[in-house]
Amino acid sequence: MFDALTEKLSGVFDRLGGRGVLSEKDVDEALREVRVALLDADVALPVARDFIAKAKERAAGEAVVRSVRPADQVVKIVYDGLIETLGGEEPVPLNLAAAPPAVILMAGLQGSGKTTTAAKLALRISKTERKKVMMASLDTRRPAAMEQLALLGQQAEVDTLPIVAGQSAPDIARRAMSAAKLAGYDVLILDTAGRTTLDEAMMAEAAEIARISQPTETLLVADSLTGQDAVRTAKAFHERLPLTGLILTRADGDGRGGAALSMRAVTGLPIKFLGAGEKIDALDVFDARRVAGRILGQGDIVALVEKASAELDQAKAERMAKKLAKGQFDLDDLSDQLAQMQKMGGMQGLMGLLPGVQKIKKQIAEANIDDKIFRRQQAIISSMTKVERKKPDLLNASRKRRVAAGAGVDVAEINRLLKQHRQMADMFKAMSKGGGKGFARMAQMMGG
Ligand code: GDP
Repeated sequence: MFDALTEKLSGVFDRLGGRGVLSEKDVDEALREVRVALLDADVALPVARDFIAKAKERAAGEAVVRSVRPADQVVKIVYDGLIETLGGEEPVPLNLAAAPPAVILMAGLQGSGKTTTAAKLALRISKTERKKVMMASLDTRRPAAMEQLALLGQQAEVDTLPIVAGQSAPDIARRAMSAAKLAGYDVLILDTAGRTTLDEAMMAEAAEIARISQPTETLLVADSLTGQDAVRTAKAFHERLPLTGLILTRADGDGRGGAALSMRAVTGLPIKFLGAGEKIDALDVFDARRVAGRILGQGDIVALVEKASAELDQAKAERMAKKLAKGQFDLDDLSDQLAQMQKMGGMQGLMGLLPGVQKIKKQIAEANIDDKIFRRQQAIISSMTKVERKKPDLLNASRKRRVAAGAGVDVAEINRLLKQHRQMADMFKAMSKGGGKGFARMAQMMGG
């Protein structure tokens, strides 16, 4: 599904690869080509734009890891961007936590693969999660659809609600729920009627079924081959139905991948599964890391850069620990710390190197440190001159105003940051004389 994109991106990286040192211009040029590749793959324009803006930001903020080639670092930046665009590192599991039966509502256009996917899902849940599953078709307009689901149910060895002619969709939903409850089913999958195009009656019916059945999952099935149309469909459905996730079918086809790459960003909904064939077991859990890896086709390089960055972080943390032990801590150090903390685990990693602070780690983790605050604070520090960062006392009113304007914040925020830095520096000084209490207080301050 991503073949063309993979090929274009590897062309971009190959061209970069020959160069020993990359200038900002090289990186910009490469990212411009990445943008074209994304658009060619039918990724929605705002999504591609956002992707490149963030990649640029990352490239600028990235520490130079000497042990890897600059081009490989660009690969890693694109890889991280892909994972983020695809919805983050961890697959989002199905929520089946409800008094039985937990209801899964399937929605989508006719022909998207909705009915097949309902059966694939039923098979997966009954086999891998060992739950008792029932399916019911609510497609009253197409008796063939009901029979298709019954047939698929037989293949999956999953029960289907007996067909009763003449019932309305809401009535079937009610009957399915009480039948499932009575017979002790854990999960009930409701396959709503699809139409070939978006229309009001279909939406209204699906919304009513959702009200009646109170699903824990309302999944939209969309055909990835339809690219941007799939994205538009998802958006339209999401406006009417409280969708909880997406399933993209025909990931085995030669679509350009744009749907997968745009869906999450445009709808805010996680992609939960990929349909990868006509067979009833052809359903893959959607794993952003794996998909990003597949798109790039540069797994070795990514692993290499990750390892080298981890080593660099470790070395930095050790250096920092040494400085702190001497009671030295300037604004550059604070900025470094903020960057590390953004990667999370950075602060904890650092503390791991200091004696006697084990139990405080948990408090830091619980302090719920906000990423945005970090980024803003880093922006403030990077708006200062080198000398100001070393000697914060130089920051008089007019310098503060300049920094505030540069970082797009008001002066009060600069003052807060400076105060925080002062307190931290004092604390480190005190800590270097022993004891670990200061870290807990610092965690509290960072949270606010
Ligand atoms: P519905 O109208 O949305 O319920 O669509 P169906 O479930 O009837 O599927 C329409 C056709 O798409 C069937 O021939 C399915 O076998 C096929 N199909 C569904 N999902 C996939 C998929 O992930 N890959 C491929 N290649 N075909 C699929």
